[in-house]
Amino acid sequence: MTKIAVAKGDGIGPEIMDAVLSVFQAAQVPLEYEFVDMGKWVFDKGFSNGMTSEAQQTIENLGILFKGPMETPKGKGVKSINVTARKTWNTYANKRVFQTLHGVDTVFSKAGIPIDVTIVRENIEDTYGGVEHMITPDVALSRRFITRPGSMQVIKYAFEMASKKGARRITCGHKANIMKLTDGLFLECFYEVAKNYPDLKADDVIVDDLCMKLVTRPDTFDVVVLTNLQGDIVSDLCAGLVGGLGFAPSANVGDHISIFEAVHGTAPDIAGKGIANPTALLLSGFSLLQHVGLYDKANMIENALLYTLESGVHTGDFGDRNKPSLNTTEFANAIIANF
Ligand code: NAD
Repeated sequence: MTKIAVAKGDGIGPEIMDAVLSVFQAAQVPLEYEFVDMGKWVFDKGFSNGMTSEAQQTIENLGILFKGPMETPKGKGVKSINVTARKTWNTYANKRVFQTLHGVDTVFSKAGIPIDVTIVRENIEDTYGGVEHMITPDVALSRRFITRPGSMQVIKYAFEMASKKGARRITCGHKANIMKLTDGLFLECFYEVAKNYPDLKADDVIVDDLCMKLVTRPDTFDVVVLTNLQGDIVSDLCAGLVGGLGFAPSANVGDHISIFEAVHGTAPDIAGKGIANPTALLLSGFSLLQHVGLYDKANMIENALLYTLESGVHTGDFGDRNKPSLNTTEFANAIIANF
């Protein structure tokens, strides 16, 4: 049986992870879990990278981490646990799939416009190195690193994934008109890789124009690849198109280790109330199941989730406000009842 590492995370993390694992258990998913100590609560115990050395070893041995969201510790010079994990294990591609889900009403679903956009965000470079310093008390400087090998590996991943999924179009979002060297290099790499995929329509759109086009004609996009910061912002925009952060899954893919998690954070405003929507983490769980070849279980759970959403069952963050909402556990149980 495949064994994976699981970190429940902080805030709403344990609530949504328990809900998702209860769905996996009811579906008799043949996975073994090794729970690892990772998150802000581990950072608070004095582990500066947010995980114990045992946790790091386990994740490196197993190669797959299923994680809940983790709070970024406050304070200057303190790095995000999530960013540290992505860098430590070189998970260079962040794949985020945004799809119309029946039962999750949005302006587009009401207008009959289907959305199926996959964002591939470069996950390691850019301003996320956190290389910042004060030049004078009034001037802060941040350094932005974009490298050819780093750009090539994520762009190659995006083209290969787009080709396998039968995409029609792959678009590079960028700001190369202003950041001619950094975004210019990323764009150059994009067209270099594109030469190997003549069947895919490859084009580019300046990122501000891309945002406008995504909110007016999202159905014209298929796969979009971007640098780290721009990819992060455009991802949350796309989450809004399909109903919100509660429906935005993500996979951080590397050559040796992959991390599956929701796009959203620890939701401190609702943590501990038991009302969070577990769908984004469950959708991330589908990618994990597909990644380990458990396609039947992934389909079974996906069908039950889609049926549940279509029947109008919902947590408090979406759906018909006139209908009562379910809490996290009740929502998971409603999915299980639809197997
Ligand atoms: P957030 O995503 O936690 O919350 C934004 C808004 O969305 C909140 O109103 C929240 O209630 C709502 N929301 C998010 N997930 C939800 C869900 N599953 N169900 C219902 N509502 C949901 O963003 P934030 O407040 O900017 O960040 C809080 C913390 O999370 C920060 O410390 C941040 O660094 C961290 N964070 C972690 C990750 C990660 O672990 N990958 C990602 C983003 C943010």
